[in-house]
Amino acid sequence: MLRFAQTCEAIAATTKKLQKTAIVADYLKSRSGDEAAVSAVFFSGRAFAAWEETTLQIGGSLLWRAVAELSEKDESALTAAYRKHGDLGAVAEEVLPHRSGQGLKILEVADTFQQLAAARGPAAKSALVRDLLARATPLEAKYIVKIMTGDLRIGLKESLVEEAIAKAYGTGLADVQRANMLLGDIGRTLQLAVEHNLANAKMRMFHPLGFMLASPVESAEEGLTYFAEAAVEDKYDGIRAQAHVSGGVVKFFSRTRDEITESFPELPDALAGLPQDAILDGEIVAWEYPQDLARTQRVVDESPSEAGEMKAVGLGRARPFSVLQQRLGRKKVSEKMLREIPVAYLVFDVLYAGGELLIDRPLRERAQILDELLAGERKVLRHGDTEAQRKIGTQGRLTFDSEEEISATRIIRAPVFLAGIPEELESLFVAARARGNEGLMIKDLASTYAPGKRGKSWLKMKRELATLDVVVTAVEFGHGKRIRVLSDYTFAVWDTNTNNARLVNIGKAYSGLTDAEISEMTQWFLEHTIEDHGFRRTVEPKIVLEVAFNNMMRSDRHESGYALRFPRIVRLRPDKTPEEADTIERVREIFEKQNSHS
Ligand code: AMP
Repeated sequence: MLRFAQTCEAIAATTKKLQKTAIVADYLKSRSGDEAAVSAVFFSGRAFAAWEETTLQIGGSLLWRAVAELSEKDESALTAAYRKHGDLGAVAEEVLPHRSGQGLKILEVADTFQQLAAARGPAAKSALVRDLLARATPLEAKYIVKIMTGDLRIGLKESLVEEAIAKAYGTGLADVQRANMLLGDIGRTLQLAVEHNLANAKMRMFHPLGFMLASPVESAEEGLTYFAEAAVEDKYDGIRAQAHVSGGVVKFFSRTRDEITESFPELPDALAGLPQDAILDGEIVAWEYPQDLARTQRVVDESPSEAGEMKAVGLGRARPFSVLQQRLGRKKVSEKMLREIPVAYLVFDVLYAGGELLIDRPLRERAQILDELLAGERKVLRHGDTEAQRKIGTQGRLTFDSEEEISATRIIRAPVFLAGIPEELESLFVAARARGNEGLMIKDLASTYAPGKRGKSWLKMKRELATLDVVVTAVEFGHGKRIRVLSDYTFAVWDTNTNNARLVNIGKAYSGLTDAEISEMTQWFLEHTIEDHGFRRTVEPKIVLEVAFNNMMRSDRHESGYALRFPRIVRLRPDKTPEEADTIERVREIFEKQNSHS
């Protein structure tokens, strides 16, 4: 383990990528196959291969206590060390006593990680952690703790480890990348590279591939400038999910690569009957099924034009993210939730089917394969051909035998439209917004699926929700390289409902400002602190920020009763006085507008 830790120090000491990969390659070559394989996993900042569901399940506080006990340092000494480094691994190195002796073998560390994952309860885990750290030198402990917290912070990404493997064993980088993507296991990939057997890597199901991401466009014109033929879909506001279907087993993974199947118990059954193993890409949304639209009849009676729009929805429509939000973060989804907030999986891509990885095929072909795949599944329905625009694929009219069948339908092929001129795109955009969706996704029909990449083959066109002008009320020191600056801001809007207007907090954001602005703000906040709580300071409410966010939800987390999803600082507003910041009334207005479709 000492050689591994020393190698990490050498990697951290250079910013040059080529040098980093050369150091890793030299180290790997000097180790046995088993040791090199484990090291490759550790270099990627993981305790276990990516595909494995095993996790250590060790919280920061357990590690903190173990370091405290072994070092016999008191809380304030540890806090001071933490403030200095901003990293528990570096703290461990500083405070743990030096030991003579052999140090640890890297395979022993890997073995203990397995035992830790299997151990139940904090007492058993603590004992194992203490024992492991007690046998480690301070430098080894530093990297053991870093791996346990999942972040080496030595400027080494998994992609560089792939490069190092290609270099160490004289194989092609593309072969290494592909094998690692299929296997989700950099250690196993290394072993195949050693054997010059990378071409035989087979897709391992049930570990998520990277998600292809989209770049924003500002206008319909821009949306059609990057490629010749555009497929257009609604941009649904839910949760991105990759579905793996194999042998009747179905699992869903989120963009953060977590398994989320349990949160959506109604979905697996609907996919389990697919005729082939498959990996699908799509969005899980809260769905309003037509028969749930009791109000449809009312609308038909009261407002014929709106009824036309409702009919166009066919299968139903997505409800706002804030509705789906109510189902999330729960261990068990109650019957009531399942009934009141049903979800659907809107599928828009297929990455693997019929034993073939499809990501290198153009979208045009993938779309067709997806159409055929879902057409074989009786419960899978498609939107009717109700749009004026031309559509691609084999999407036919809706045919179902009964209302029950509609409600049993959880898997929906996201409708695809074609647009060749900005006006067509504009009208699709208006229609998507009318259906309650966020906007449009515009995709290059000739493009391959690029896992984990944000490029110009997928574009997103959406209207930002209104921004809010808010007042900063409290600030905190940041993390990592921002440990010494006040970069995390809690902000508030005015509550004018009482006699004395007061500020009520609504959110917290830590991105968006330049380093120069943050350092200027830090100075200002240090000089205008009202109360100093160490990491957090309440400050004079004078600084106005403009913040953007994806949407708004009700929440007890902040005094205002609302919270913002993905808040980000757009800019400082030195041109505004704090009195000119927004009020809770405006927050309510935005919230209601956003929810008018629910
Ligand atoms: P954003 O989160 O604003 O960067 O937008 C990208 C996200 O839009 C994706 O990660 C998906 O979760 C979501 N999305 C909704 N509808 C689609 C669609 N039809 N195609 C691709 N992504 C979609």
